[in-house]
Amino acid sequence: MKKEIELNAVEKKLIAKNVNPTAMRILVMNYFQKSSNASSLRQLEEHFEKSDMTTLYRTLKTFVEHNILHTIDDGSGIMKYARCIEGCVCAPDDLHYHFHCLSCKETICLTEQRIPKVQLPENFTMSEANMVVKGNCSNCSPK
Ligand SMILES: [Zn+2]
Ligand SMILES: [Zn+2]
Ligand SMILES: [Zn+2]
Repeated sequence: MKKEIELNAVEKKLIAKNVNPTAMRILVMNYFQKSSNASSLRQLEEHFEKSDMTTLYRTLKTFVEHNILHTIDDGSGIMKYARCIEGCVCAPDDLHYHFHCLSCKETICLTEQRIPKVQLPENFTMSEANMVVKGNCSNCSPK
């Protein structure tokens, strides 16, 4: 008799996004589940230093293509990755503001703060928008 394989929440999430839950993908997904802050490629490379880097890059690419992660250009010159919220299809309507702390360099998604529709000239279409608010996070703001 075939043994029933119990899928955990992370595996279910990947399958729901049409992504085959391989070992590496589960690890990366677990990592992003734990933190709501964005991670730079450097942070990810350090965290997964024991893993094959090519597999890591491929996993990130797959996650971005399947709307599991989105990339953030916070102006620091380093691309960051953050988890998409439930139901995100990375369409212009899903674009939101980001906050970049100038002290601790953390970047967080302000998913409640959607980027308002921008009136574009005729026949222009929007595919990307970068809205980054910079300042000090609650940990770094003077009390
Ligand atoms: Zn998204
Ligand atoms: Zn901070
Ligand atoms: Zn975000």
